Amino acid sequence: MKNVPFFVPSEKIIKAHIRQLLWQGRPKCPRCGKSSSVRHSERRYRCRLCRRPFSLTSHTWLSGMKLSWRQLWKLLWCFCRKYPPDKAAEATNLSLVTARHWYALFRCKLPERSRQLEFLVCADEGYFGKHKTGNQRIAAGVVEPLTNEVRLRVIPNTEQGTLEAFLYQHVSTRETMVYTDSHPSYNDIQFMGYAHDTENHSRGQLKHTVPIERVWSFAKWQLRRMYHHLWAKHYPEFLREIEWRFSSPETFENPLNFLTQTLRSVPNA
Ligand SMILES: [Zn+2]
Repeated sequence: MKNVPFFVPSEKIIKAHIRQLLWQGRPKCPRCGKSSSVRHSERRYRCRLCRRPFSLTSHTWLSGMKLSWRQLWKLLWCFCRKYPPDKAAEATNLSLVTARHWYALFRCKLPERSRQLEFLVCADEGYFGKHKTGNQRIAAGVVEPLTNEVRLRVIPNTEQGTLEAFLYQHVSTRETMVYTDSHPSYNDIQFMGYAHDTENHSRGQLKHTVPIERVWSFAKWQLRRMYHHLWAKHYPEFLREIEWRFSSPETFENPLNFLTQTLRSVPNA
């Protein structure tokens, strides 16, 4: 592996981190959740109650991983530091296809946030990709400026029903102030229970909708700088990544923070 400007610990240390993260140190059976019944040899663990073997990664999204722990760690560093996939492939001596595959997996494994935004939010639509290549998609977005939490989804069109359904799913209807531009699809949202105010962007009114404009420019910058080009089918996970990078940048401070947010032992998976 080439020299990279970040520290990659030994395999032993990485595995100790993962053991701590998943089991708080003591091997725990992923099926029954018990530690007391586990017997283990060098690598494999076995639960006496469930009569089944398991490993450190079985029942997590790292199950069956073909990378070494140090390769994974290095690739995660590249992802956290926003290396484009080709630079990550170069830094880790992996193929570009492998680097892209793992990047997509990292994006997918960021958990969906289901809390409804409230109190004061700004909503808007953004366009990603080039229309002439057929790769353009529309995203609906809403941000809660007090916390910087964002919800972003690919939507099929900007019709009233579509945007209202998006708001209804992601924004609490109890005493929430919603700022939007003057797009007519938002005209009736006060009937859904929201307090609503609009700003006319073409007249240069830009005060309350600045936060969502910041989200779009952040997302577009990220798309250009990190991915150069991304097929539209990857937009949903890309928008998930943006939600996390925008509101929780600490998740991407190092590989351990990222794994703390994403790695869980899921029984029977
Ligand atoms: Zn068990």
